[in-house]
Amino acid sequence: MSEQSKFLLSEKQIPSAWVNIIPHLKEPLELPVHPQTHKPLQAADLAPIFPMSLIEQEFSPQPEIDIPGEVLDIYKLWRPTPLCRARRLEKALDTPAHIYYKYEGTSPAGSHKPNTAVAQAYYNKKAGIKRLSTETGAGQWGSALALSCRMFGMDCTVYMVKVSYEQKPYRRMMMNAWGAEVFASPSNLTESGRRVLAEHPDSPGSLGIAISEAVEDAALHGDTNYSLGSVLNHVCLHQTVIGLEAKQQMALAGEEPDVVIGCFGGGTNYAGISIPYIMDNIEKGSKVRCMAVEPAACPTLTKGVFAYDFGDIAKLTPMLKMYTLGHDFVPPGIHAGGLRYPGASPLMSHLLKHGWAEARSVMQLPVFEAALQFARTEGILPAPESSHAIRAAIDEALEAKEEGKPRVILFNLSGHGHFDLASYDAYMTGKLSDYEYPSEEVARSMETLPKV
Ligand SMILES: *Cc1c(COP(=O)(O)O)cnc(C)c1O
Repeated sequence: MSEQSKFLLSEKQIPSAWVNIIPHLKEPLELPVHPQTHKPLQAADLAPIFPMSLIEQEFSPQPEIDIPGEVLDIYKLWRPTPLCRARRLEKALDTPAHIYYKYEGTSPAGSHKPNTAVAQAYYNKKAGIKRLSTETGAGQWGSALALSCRMFGMDCTVYMVKVSYEQKPYRRMMMNAWGAEVFASPSNLTESGRRVLAEHPDSPGSLGIAISEAVEDAALHGDTNYSLGSVLNHVCLHQTVIGLEAKQQMALAGEEPDVVIGCFGGGTNYAGISIPYIMDNIEKGSKVRCMAVEPAACPTLTKGVFAYDFGDIAKLTPMLKMYTLGHDFVPPGIHAGGLRYPGASPLMSHLLKHGWAEARSVMQLPVFEAALQFARTEGILPAPESSHAIRAAIDEALEAKEEGKPRVILFNLSGHGHFDLASYDAYMTGKLSDYEYPSEEVARSMETLPKV
């Protein structure tokens, strides 16, 4: 009999509730602060752009939040996602370690992002909202929200960073196919966009600018809300379906992970795979290592400081206590667009700060080397973002080999790389290089942090 490599659940085993780690925290979570008054943020401050249900989830003391039936019905299009043991990769590495991965690339948009996009569209629809606005960089979040709005019969407006709009047309076409309208940002549709264009007509755009445009659009239109694909507590909450399924599947495999790994942009796919394990560490004294992996070119967790900072360049967003490289940090053009955010989830930052999580950074070239090794053994062509987790998983397996000891490794494969072939091509033709963000630069942008 061949050895089992794939651990599948039935539709009935999709979790019926998301789990909320906030009530389990030993140290109180630092609250967001109003950008002008510097006072703790009130629910009413967020009401112009978010529905009350999501604002409540953002600060909820409930240990569990039921997943609404209509959301579950859409999850069923691709959930439960598979958990696989990477036997061919283990063999290629000649390691005694067991490597498992949870594959979120089976969603229609190709990443974990629809787990929260579907939920956010649902709660907005229930609140009577007709249209959602958002920003997107490389296009993964925009396509997840375009899909989700379509499922609930809502309109969707996406402000896409202009360089990506021009360089990555396929994600835009995918959003259009699902009926979203997509504008290159900066656009002349918003005051924020027009202000940038007046000064820099050739601006390539940035996530910070696109966020300002999407928030302004939502704030000015009563039937429109804003939706964010990462960083916030309610986004981490919705992603916990990943880890809850993975725990059931690891039980089917008859193993407990020693280390759980996720790549880290704003922190939410990592939150999804790790939170159920971190909760066991807090409540039951388990000792599962939970590791976030970020690019050395955007080393928020490993070189940033834990401080209050704004989420955008225009300083319109609330100040969040998080690991940050400074709100005016412009990340270099590495090929994992989804990991180029200079801030981090306050929740995951808090867990790291208090020793419930660990973080490391990896260079771009070894990441692509790991991505190809994975594609050539396991067959799946991973997203460059997800490949950061693969690099760390392989390094853990090689360390186990050196020690001559078994180790059980679980990582989240957050998405596929079918729209990232140009970066693979650049790597394979020797056009990529390594870049580590210098500590002196980090120190300089720290001087711009707000005094709170
Ligand atoms: C957006 C994205 C990420 C980074 O976002 P997180 O909030 O850190 O999860 C990682 N992987 C993929 C495939 C993405 O699309």
